[in-house]
Amino acid sequence: VIHPEDRESYEAATAGLDLLPPAPGGATRQDSVRLGLESLRQAAPDAVAIHDAARPFLSHDLIDRLLIKLPSHSGAIAALPVTDTLKKTRESGDVIGTVPRTRLWRAQTPQVFRFHEILDAHEKALTAGADFTDDAAVAENAGLNVTIVEGSPENVKITTPEDMARAERWLAGGLETRVGQGFDVHRLGPGDHVMLCGVRIPHTQGLLGHSDADVALHAITDALLGAIGEGDIGSHFPPSDPKWLGADSALFLSHAVGLLRQRGGGLSNIDTTLICEAPKIAPYRPAMIARVAQIAEVPESQVSVKATTTERLGFAGRGEGIAALSTVTVRLPPGD
Ligand code: MG
Repeated sequence: VIHPEDRESYEAATAGLDLLPPAPGGATRQDSVRLGLESLRQAAPDAVAIHDAARPFLSHDLIDRLLIKLPSHSGAIAALPVTDTLKKTRESGDVIGTVPRTRLWRAQTPQVFRFHEILDAHEKALTAGADFTDDAAVAENAGLNVTIVEGSPENVKITTPEDMARAERWLAGGLETRVGQGFDVHRLGPGDHVMLCGVRIPHTQGLLGHSDADVALHAITDALLGAIGEGDIGSHFPPSDPKWLGADSALFLSHAVGLLRQRGGGLSNIDTTLICEAPKIAPYRPAMIARVAQIAEVPESQVSVKATTTERLGFAGRGEGIAALSTVTVRLPPGD
């Protein structure tokens, strides 16, 4: 559920993920959740997990431990036992007494429910005009049985700028850096242009081979696949498959970026070197950087394209083919 004005940043944040279209939210949290649930009416899932996007550190394990409660309960919520001593005060701040903390819990999300029961409960709350602070309260009001699963202290809610700074420090320390390398060569033959980094460059010859023979995008794709341990371009897009004949190599890089995103990873940088005597690369470098950044969905500042000759030595020096090298750095969640 998103604010309609946030659509652009939502789309940037979820690029490459296989998600249902977002539902527009309402004026309150409760309205937003109900609208989200209503948008699922057609899909009619058995279970639904309601989660605050402001808690980005939830784990798969926590979701599993909640869902396992659903056969015996209408709902299950993540919560932490209260460990601090609780004081009750007068309005002045003077202490009246100590509140026993036994069996007191701090509710988190996700909160999972049988779909139809929580949807009915939300509609009931709407009709009654009641205002609740979480979905478990909506469920309790409808008489549903909800149980608690011990959540995780890392599953923090980011509400203040200080929370955000702490989360960023934590993330920066928690992500693993991985490096991948790619290398590719394509033969030059009859033709009137070459594709390099997704840019069409007029030339007296063309590159032959797999897809549009964009040797640079192939090297970048292989480097990215290498960084995440996902094989190579040939294992995802076999050269024997006629489907890829003449294909735009941007497809391959987009696919690799999608695999990275699915694992919650991010691209740090792409550095690529083209090795050829001709055509001259320099005039096309800005366009190449822009195109690679666009395909990989990263800022241009994270993309570098360089070129060198081999002093007329070897196959590249004799103009028989063009080679490309690439190094890609990514960040992956720990333990991935
Ligand atoms: Mg290739």
